[in-house]
Amino acid sequence: MREQRDDTIAAVATAPGQGAVAIVRLSGTNARAIVEALTGIVPRPRYAELCTFRGAAGEELDRGLVLFFPGPRSYTGEDVVELHAHGGRVVSDALLARAFTLGARPAEPGEFTLRAFLNDKVDLLQAEAVADLVASGSTAAARAALRSLDGQFSARVSALQSALTQLRVKLEAWLDFPDEELRFDARDDCAAALDALLADLGALARAARSGSVLRDGLSVAIAGPPNAGKSSLLNRLAGYDAAIVTDIPGTTRDPLREHLTLGGLPITIVDTAGLRESTDPVEQEGLRRARAEVRRADRVLWVVDVREPVDAALANARANLGDAPFTVLRNKVDLARDGEVQDAAAGDPRPARSTVSDARDAPADRAPVLAISALTGAGIDALIAHLHTLAGYDAAAPGTFSARRRHLAALERARIRLAAAREQLDGALELAAEELRGAQTALGELTGELTSDDLLGEIFATFCIGK
Ligand code: GDP
Repeated sequence: MREQRDDTIAAVATAPGQGAVAIVRLSGTNARAIVEALTGIVPRPRYAELCTFRGAAGEELDRGLVLFFPGPRSYTGEDVVELHAHGGRVVSDALLARAFTLGARPAEPGEFTLRAFLNDKVDLLQAEAVADLVASGSTAAARAALRSLDGQFSARVSALQSALTQLRVKLEAWLDFPDEELRFDARDDCAAALDALLADLGALARAARSGSVLRDGLSVAIAGPPNAGKSSLLNRLAGYDAAIVTDIPGTTRDPLREHLTLGGLPITIVDTAGLRESTDPVEQEGLRRARAEVRRADRVLWVVDVREPVDAALANARANLGDAPFTVLRNKVDLARDGEVQDAAAGDPRPARSTVSDARDAPADRAPVLAISALTGAGIDALIAHLHTLAGYDAAAPGTFSARRRHLAALERARIRLAAAREQLDGALELAAEELRGAQTALGELTGELTSDDLLGEIFATFCIGK
């Protein structure tokens, strides 16, 4: 898979359906010859040329623009041609069929970007950023993907890699010249360098986590007793009436899912049936589904009426949610008497934990408590800020770049190997060197230098065709 490919691929690069323009894209050694046969002209590099696209018998298929990007100064690094035709399936299918007859073959998903990667136009982090940019669901996510595409994530990984290489050189020298005096200095040197590396890696992992939250979002389930205001809360967050609100308990039967962007953070939010005992078989099924959603969510918002004492609410939440991480929302503060508001507003003096995984580890008695009114909107901004904190997302953080779970896992593997190396510095140096090699491999998987062909296949298979 890694060797250069010399065949020519073609695909429609625009989204299927009707549109003003459809673009057929070709890449490979024969791209230029195919287009000359298809248009009868020799396209000038990087010019938009008006031409007629013709079929095998010389019949007119369409009139449009042709753009020629000779390799290596092209997206894939090979000769690339774009045919800009009128939109709609029929014309683009005819152009594609003609390109196939002239020797191109259908591109696999992501194959244009794969070729760009194989020809060193982009590294793997940048290639993935292309797909993330295309799939981004918010402006913040798109901006973050652009930063990765720009190489900002890659640059930080490269800086870690070169620091790690320097450290390995030092350690190998130490191993080769086990002079006692040198050994004493070298150990201090290596320890300091390793500490700095671990700190840099930690900062990068935090930034990457923020970026992966932007991409994958946070999943939140709204649960609690009937009539507490769960559906009203969903509607308030969505900004429209997604859920039916009544004062008849048991109205919500099926979990209702909405994809929202709250302050730049993508959130999938599920409104569940009120958790209470029921003999009605339909409501029982609703309860079963509600519990399943609660188990799947990154966070449960346990909504209660502010007039319910906070201790009782916490105990009830714990009884219903087991070890699912939750926040208590004391709703309807607009109805609370003075004492209740104060009690509710005081909330939990302990700050919310900073990331989802931390929150998962937090014991239930740490559950934060917030006061809100789904009716008036009081406390909703604080709730959104709370969700941002839980997700480890900082809307104001400059330079967030897009990242995936795969990246977080590779950074974590590198961290474990570096930490192990740090411990071995006082013991078996050969083992420390081995751990450093392992850390370098983990970092290499990020940029694709050391990524297996299977993994590459998996990554590019998730791209769309024509990308
Ligand atoms: P659910 O059963 O938990 O989904 O509760 P609903 O959202 O259906 O609300 C139950 C009742 O409480 C409805 O009559 C809502 O209008 C009312 N309600 C919900 N939130 C508030 C609030 O913040 N303040 C007041 N005053 N009423 C609310």
